Amino acid sequence: MPVLARMVPAPLSVEVRSGAIARLGDLLADRRISARGDVAVAVGPGQGATIVEAIRPTLNSAPVHRVDSGSIESAQRLGDVLRAGWYDAVVGIGGGRTLDVAKYAASQAGLPMVSVATSLSHDGIASPVASLEHRGRKGSYGVQTPIAVLVDLDYVRRCPIEQLRAGVGDALSNLSALADWELAGRERGETFDGLAAMFARAAAESVVHRDDELTSDTFLTALAEALVLAGVAMAAAGSSRPCSGACHEIAHAVDVLYPGRASHGAQVAVGAMFACFLRDDPKLAQIDACLRRLEVPRVPRDIGLDEEQFAAAVVEAPATRPDRYTILEHLDMGKKEVRGRVDAFVRAFDR
Ligand SMILES: [Zn+2]
Repeated sequence: MPVLARMVPAPLSVEVRSGAIARLGDLLADRRISARGDVAVAVGPGQGATIVEAIRPTLNSAPVHRVDSGSIESAQRLGDVLRAGWYDAVVGIGGGRTLDVAKYAASQAGLPMVSVATSLSHDGIASPVASLEHRGRKGSYGVQTPIAVLVDLDYVRRCPIEQLRAGVGDALSNLSALADWELAGRERGETFDGLAAMFARAAAESVVHRDDELTSDTFLTALAEALVLAGVAMAAAGSSRPCSGACHEIAHAVDVLYPGRASHGAQVAVGAMFACFLRDDPKLAQIDACLRRLEVPRVPRDIGLDEEQFAAAVVEAPATRPDRYTILEHLDMGKKEVRGRVDAFVRAFDR
């Protein structure tokens, strides 16, 4: 019989709760990922030491590798560790950078990767994409979807609040990315994948309508689920398309022109606001209200850029992703027009 349904790569297990890390060993055994805890653990510099202490009782023999940077070389060093031993899986514990390094190294070594997120700053916690630095530039690399995802709310609560705001920005940017995808479907005949779009939209909508506190357990759980769901949307689409459009092109251009200015999520939030402004998006007011309430960056000044600098990033943006058709490629604006639109955007929203 032919396969009549699509298979979507998705994690075997998703757990969002307090104390998830302490249960890591049980999860590995329960889900048949590793019966005796023969895994390699990769931790980041931030909360690394505390985490290692918390997992020791259930994972006594696992070697712990410290991830010192988010580069391809760093991922290759972890890959060397994996090849030198016999492991059932790689467990990445930390924020974006550590998880991306672990995802990439696991894919290279052909091992499953367990993603244990200790912050909620972006939608890479369950996605089949690793964002790594190579020769001073950030690149996106396709990897396997994590086999299990754990979000420990105890650690998430201890992170700087800016990281949560960034996570909100990345989740909400899906709404702008989806509008870009629909545009590419209309203008270019690009295949618009309704299932992937549904996941990405549900993720963003579950955050944009909330009225609870950013640091409340209910909000943190919703945000974690939204970021995991965005990862599943990318896995269903086979690309980052449902979660990345002009918003991300602008953020990547900001990375190139003004490295280290603000976090990924903060930059895509401003990028999404501007892209929605350009297309006169009916969602703009809703996105603006949500970002405003949660104090997420919305305008160039919030990420340390003046109008001229932001306009330069918008001009540069399409070159960061030449194959992606968005509102920027559609309008194909010259430098002067971009500056005029940036000024109008700032006049309307910077208050
Ligand atoms: Zn993103």
